[in-house]
Amino acid sequence: MQAASSPKGGDHRTKIESMHLSEKQRVFTLNISRLIAKGYALGLEMTFGEAYRTIEQQMLYVQTGRSHTMNSNHLRRLAVDFNFFKNGHLTYRWEDIKPLGDYWESLDPANRWGGDWNKNNKKDGFIDTPHFEMNV
Ligand SMILES: [Zn+2]
Repeated sequence: MQAASSPKGGDHRTKIESMHLSEKQRVFTLNISRLIAKGYALGLEMTFGEAYRTIEQQMLYVQTGRSHTMNSNHLRRLAVDFNFFKNGHLTYRWEDIKPLGDYWESLDPANRWGGDWNKNNKKDGFIDTPHFEMNV
């Protein structure tokens, strides 16, 4: 079913979906190491924000509007938020981080950047530029 709807990435997508959660987490973490290296190559220094999040923390974020879902990939250790520094200055500007978002999506068909949830290359909807996830 997946392969028929997406001939190019379908087989890989099906493979990812059949993995145990721990295997997915390890693929995600390896790809995050590549993302960090790419960020520095693009002139973006990075520090960690949140990775794993508890149910209680997620509930608080939904109540305060910081998050819009109780189905966050942070709950599965498949998402991480970063802080970015360009020329020494903190930035979350969509335009600064978009090239890294594009790179992230190129690493795996299941990868999504919070600056472009629907992958339409536009700055629309709920924007969460620090967020990188594997959505499986
Ligand atoms: Zn996040």
